[in-house]
Amino acid sequence: MDAAATATSLYIHFPFCSRFCDYCDYCDFYSVKADDRIDFFLSSVFKDIKYQLELFDAGKIITAYIGGGTPSVAGGRIRYLLDALKTLPGFSPLEFTVEANPESADEEFLSACREGGVTRISIGVQTFHEPSRNAVNRARTGMMEERLALVSQFFPLAFSADLMTGLPLQSEDAVLSDVERTLAYKPAHVSLYSLSVEAGTPLEEKIKRRDVILPDRDKADALWLSGRKALKDAGYEHYEVSNFALPGKKCLHNLRYWRMEGWLGAGPAASGTVIDEKNATAKRYTYPSDLDWYLNSFRDSETPPLCEELDRGALLRESLLMGFRCREGPDTEIFRRRFGCSPEECIPETIARWRNKDIMLFLNTFLSQAFAELDRRGL
Ligand code: SF4
Repeated sequence: MDAAATATSLYIHFPFCSRFCDYCDYCDFYSVKADDRIDFFLSSVFKDIKYQLELFDAGKIITAYIGGGTPSVAGGRIRYLLDALKTLPGFSPLEFTVEANPESADEEFLSACREGGVTRISIGVQTFHEPSRNAVNRARTGMMEERLALVSQFFPLAFSADLMTGLPLQSEDAVLSDVERTLAYKPAHVSLYSLSVEAGTPLEEKIKRRDVILPDRDKADALWLSGRKALKDAGYEHYEVSNFALPGKKCLHNLRYWRMEGWLGAGPAASGTVIDEKNATAKRYTYPSDLDWYLNSFRDSETPPLCEELDRGALLRESLLMGFRCREGPDTEIFRRRFGCSPEECIPETIARWRNKDIMLFLNTFLSQAFAELDRRGL
């Protein structure tokens, strides 16, 4: 692979969880039960990162993100990876986020993160409502408030909280209470997701058997909109489909995805995208969702990940798809430099039809009209 060296973000997939939630589809969030392979994984993923930096001649890494899975189940062992990353020339991220769950975000883990150069924690709250948590097999909330307090103490105004709506047995009061209890710890950023049921998950089975009943589509939308209003009323800007931030606290790493600026992806199921700005094309590589395959690949030497080409048309469509997830739309400067035109010039009819409308709330409809227009225009 000899793509131009433009990838300057790094995503690391940590593929272990202490238990499985019923809605996890083991594909978008590939994970296995935490076991004694964690140490070996941490050394393998570091080898992988070194290998990719060389392969892509990637230069400076300006944002980094360890997601999962549940990276906090590594506990203090995360230190090994964080210390190793510091030795890489060019690794000086402006923002470095690590995901955590309340059950494992303890002092040992948080101090390892702070000392290791992590600047931001993303913690999965989802809901405080026990009946909803039980229905999707999420761990009990026992230590939730204590752990949120700890995270806000270690990372004051530098953490994000994930909340979820559309859960079984969830009422509007429960959503408003989740927002209020979470905001009491002053997160700088909140992600508000609406539950989606993936095929083949334990949750889908439970719904088929009617062991679990989800709110209908209208009710689920109403719950999400109630959460959105509460966040906006509290001063959080709704800047991306599911993301809200206090002024100056948007997630830089994710903004780079939404602007299609290119990133390296390390770990099983991780994918990376290396943009060739000159030709407006990209290379996309994805590791198999298979921890053993991954560990074997980095045991003695390296196995290159599978690679696919995104031609100009595919990169154009993906840049619109990702860019319009954000309130401000695609970054015009990057878009024009890459494709030689602005988004308005590519899809003028669609943009005119949607002027002054909240595209983020109806993204799929907007995109199907935008792509049809691109097809008509032969772009
Ligand atoms: S913690 Fe996250 S990755 Fe792990 S099983 Fe639950 S939803 Fe999936």
